[in-house]
Amino acid sequence: MYFSEELISEIIEKNDIVDVISQYMNLRRRGNNYVGLCPFHSEKTPSFNVSPDKQLFYCFGCGVGGNVSTFIQKIEKMNYPESLNFLAERVGIEVKGTSNKKEKERIRRRNLLYKINKMAARFFYDNLNNQSSAMKYLRDRGLSIDIIKKFGLGYSLDSWDSIKKYMDANGISPELAYSAGLLAKKTNNDDYYDRFRNRIMFPIIDLKGNVIAFGGRVMDDSIPKYLNSPETEIYSKGNNIYGLNLVKKIRNLKNIIVVEGYIDAISLHQYGINNVVASLGTAFTENQARLLKRYANEIIIAYDSDAAGQAATLKGLAILEKEGCNVKVIRLPKGKDPDEYIRQEGLDSFNELIENCMSLIDYKIYNLKQNTDIATIEGRVKFIKQLASILIVLDSPAEIDAYIKKYSKEMQINERAIYDELNKIKKKHTSGNNRHNIVDRNNITNNRKKVISGELIAEKKLLNICIQDKNRAENIFNQIKPDYFNSPINKKIAEIINLKIKEGKMISAGEIIIHLENEEDTKKAAEIFSIDITDNDLKLVDSYIDKLCQAHIRKRIEELTKKMNEFYEIGDKDKSNELFKEIMELQKKKK
Ligand SMILES: [Zn+2]
Repeated sequence: MYFSEELISEIIEKNDIVDVISQYMNLRRRGNNYVGLCPFHSEKTPSFNVSPDKQLFYCFGCGVGGNVSTFIQKIEKMNYPESLNFLAERVGIEVKGTSNKKEKERIRRRNLLYKINKMAARFFYDNLNNQSSAMKYLRDRGLSIDIIKKFGLGYSLDSWDSIKKYMDANGISPELAYSAGLLAKKTNNDDYYDRFRNRIMFPIIDLKGNVIAFGGRVMDDSIPKYLNSPETEIYSKGNNIYGLNLVKKIRNLKNIIVVEGYIDAISLHQYGINNVVASLGTAFTENQARLLKRYANEIIIAYDSDAAGQAATLKGLAILEKEGCNVKVIRLPKGKDPDEYIRQEGLDSFNELIENCMSLIDYKIYNLKQNTDIATIEGRVKFIKQLASILIVLDSPAEIDAYIKKYSKEMQINERAIYDELNKIKKKHTSGNNRHNIVDRNNITNNRKKVISGELIAEKKLLNICIQDKNRAENIFNQIKPDYFNSPINKKIAEIINLKIKEGKMISAGEIIIHLENEEDTKKAAEIFSIDITDNDLKLVDSYIDKLCQAHIRKRIEELTKKMNEFYEIGDKDKSNELFKEIMELQKKKK
């Protein structure tokens, strides 16, 4: 490894964990810590904790945890050295060494491509301001100069080589501009030409503020209506959400509205609805769902009301639901998109739509109603079956009852019939999967009982006290040794702390993790340091120490007894007597 221990410490120290993590997700203060919705598992209530004092994160839901480097490894899908490079760069620490040449080159390339795209964005923006027809098009669609500027909209000239020439004049080769996705190439030769011609340009900006791609829209009926940048080293489709770079800055974000098109998003922003993003095409991906969930748990979909929009809505809903989001749907009148709606009906009307948005269940039933003809028997049977399968996810009997009452009345169907169907599905569930769950749960409780013994608690408490207070740490390790710790991970941590005490250094939990080799240990350490030390714990230090000593004595007696018996059997009386004395001494200390 080419990172010295000092360098790693410096990198970890300079990257405050709360700063770093809040660049990726919404964190709220709770007591001394910060909490948020875990980006690594599906959840509706926050169990992801970040401790600024300990410089650690830990999720009580899925058990992931570690220091700032662990977080970057997980979220950016990097390995350990890559994460250190990433963090070093973030705070301007220069990392020397030869083994990271490849990584350095990758970063250099990426930065160059960001720069090229930024240049292009500026070029397109200037074009727009010089081209009255393109500007007129946007102004006719009701966009203000301010909002055009805020989203950095632009225009690509009706030409095969304007961006090519512009890049050339600025020292950017056609190969590079091609790599950035700005130029296209004929398949049979190296003839480069402008990819975007005579289009309104929408820069796509990532969460760090880099221009990573463009969307281009025609101003007439020509096709394709939308043309996007191809996949490049800095842009992969389905991993980005248009406008999230702006939305993520909103404090106390309650929900995010997702629309289909760029103009829909921009138009709503102009009316002051700032929590709007566009999904960049109708195919909603899991990555996009996870990205959204980092910032808000409630996601409101406002897709077009045409058939394609509805199908896309249902698919998007399923994906968001799977990621644990609380999903709602805004229902637009037939044939309208959000942009048209707000321009014709105004802000108040749109806010009303938001207020009256449908829950996922309601939306599913609404769709079912649209697609079944209850005038026929087949239609009725289908409706009852599907309604039951929609309602089965509800936990509350009162809620189920309310739905059944409502729809039996509305659709003129017997309540009993719906209940029967519901019970049929329930029976299937309990005879199948659920039994497994019950067994699993018992196992977990048994394991927990085994693990949570008084000694283990004492071990964890002592380790936490050590990282809080250097004097107490010294005092503790004057009375016990690291091998008094019974659990292997606790022992490892105790060894690290003990070593640092001897070196006269104070050590934070975040730094301890640097010294652990694998992911499993990191996770366990983060869990250990996720507990808080109270005043009462400080009063109990001596009794914790005593617990460890007692456990150590017990273990020692066991070992010595075994040895003594071995010597006795081979007839070495002296040795076995010696051990016997030792055991008796230990027995005196035992309480
Ligand atoms: Zn989690």
